[in-house]
Amino acid sequence: MAFIITGSCIGTMDGACVDVCPVDCIYSKPGDTHLFINPDECIDCAACEPVCPVDAIFPDDEVPDNESQFIEEAQKYDYDSSEPGLNT
Ligand code: SF4
Ligand code: SF4
Repeated sequence: MAFIITGSCIGTMDGACVDVCPVDCIYSKPGDTHLFINPDECIDCAACEPVCPVDAIFPDDEVPDNESQFIEEAQKYDYDSSEPGLNT
């Protein structure tokens, strides 16, 4: 399992989740419209979930049906070409 950032991050993207992630697994690169949690690095600690001001973060098995594309996006994102943190 991993946690997933969904569409509500778009337009807010304040980096609050980045500040609390103990393993620096939340990534972005210039031009991104939201942040991405690397599912291979996320340790499911849930620290990021309550700090998001727009409730954009869910465990992957609790992502709302109308946000399911963000699960696939997180799986396909090119983490090697981005860096942990808010780099947009
Ligand atoms: S659940 Fe924990 S490890 Fe995963 S992205 Fe959130 S803060 Fe980081
Ligand atoms: S805390 Fe929420 S709105 Fe802020 S960057 Fe993280 S996912 Fe986006």
